[in-house]
Amino acid sequence: MKNVLIIYTGGTIGMTRTENGYAPQSGQFRRAMEAIPDLYAGQMPRWDMLEMDPLLDSSNMTVHEWNKIAQLVADHYNAYDGFVVLHGTDTMAYTASALSFMLEGLAKPVILTGSQIPMCEIRSDGRDNLITSLLIAGAGEVHEVCLYFGGKLLRGNRATKFSADGLIAFLSPNYPSLADAGITIRYNESALLPKPKGALKLQLLENIPIGVLKVFPGIQFSLFEQIMTERLRGIVIETFGAGNIPGDGGALLPIIEKAFHNGTVLTVCSQCPQGAVALGTYETSNALKRVGAVSGLDMTTEAAVAKLYYLFSCGYEKERVKALMEQDLRGEMTAP
Ligand code: ASP
Repeated sequence: MKNVLIIYTGGTIGMTRTENGYAPQSGQFRRAMEAIPDLYAGQMPRWDMLEMDPLLDSSNMTVHEWNKIAQLVADHYNAYDGFVVLHGTDTMAYTASALSFMLEGLAKPVILTGSQIPMCEIRSDGRDNLITSLLIAGAGEVHEVCLYFGGKLLRGNRATKFSADGLIAFLSPNYPSLADAGITIRYNESALLPKPKGALKLQLLENIPIGVLKVFPGIQFSLFEQIMTERLRGIVIETFGAGNIPGDGGALLPIIEKAFHNGTVLTVCSQCPQGAVALGTYETSNALKRVGAVSGLDMTTEAAVAKLYYLFSCGYEKERVKALMEQDLRGEMTAP
């Protein structure tokens, strides 16, 4: 009999209606689970559940909660065959990305899931998401942090939320799904990370000051000069296409140079969900290349943000962070 630990953090799946809209309530979700006999069926793994305090709408997740979740996995690592993290969908891809970096040498499944409709509602998608995630966590075929939603098992640090109201809410635009749950759960063996040999190594995160800047036509870069201080350790610039930014009459370069001299790591990601950044292809991306920006290649912004937190929390110097941002650490990017 396989043992799975469910870590319930909050999110729509366990929410109930309140005067101010949907919100999680302690104890509520356990009662909802007791009303689902399938969760106790013979084919299911045995499971225990830990409820985090406080339960959160995932919009309120911070590095602090990522640390709590990762620590729970590490503390119970030997006692369980797999883990299911119940989480709100809004920032699930960020948490999945963060956990993938924090849990080095992970040899067991950690599956994040949730729902778009609460379990207390008749058409909830939570029931299948939970049951299938438990089966995947118990099966032990994957050895990485994944996100299961709407019939697809995705690599956590490749996933991105793309629908605010659809039941297939996540995409993995630059990497195939790890499994498809149809009549059976079919694993895509060639897409899975190999099982690591060493022990699990947990790296907790610090609340490193980082930023994300999305460029748009007509952006006045001088408005952003104030955030480019010495405190800013890293910034993800979400550019057009393959890494292109508006020239803004030459206004951008001094600001980026300032960031560079302050020691801020500039990471270039694309606003296009699919494809990779290729700095220097166009004149409009050359400036970024010249000031030493690093290419996020085909990483999601979620993965790039989590990776910056992780690498700085490891205590690496700027040059090492820059080099590692362009290297594949947990299957988060397609390195050239
Ligand atoms: N706001 C909710 C959350 O992220 C949305 C959801 O779970 O679907 O916690």
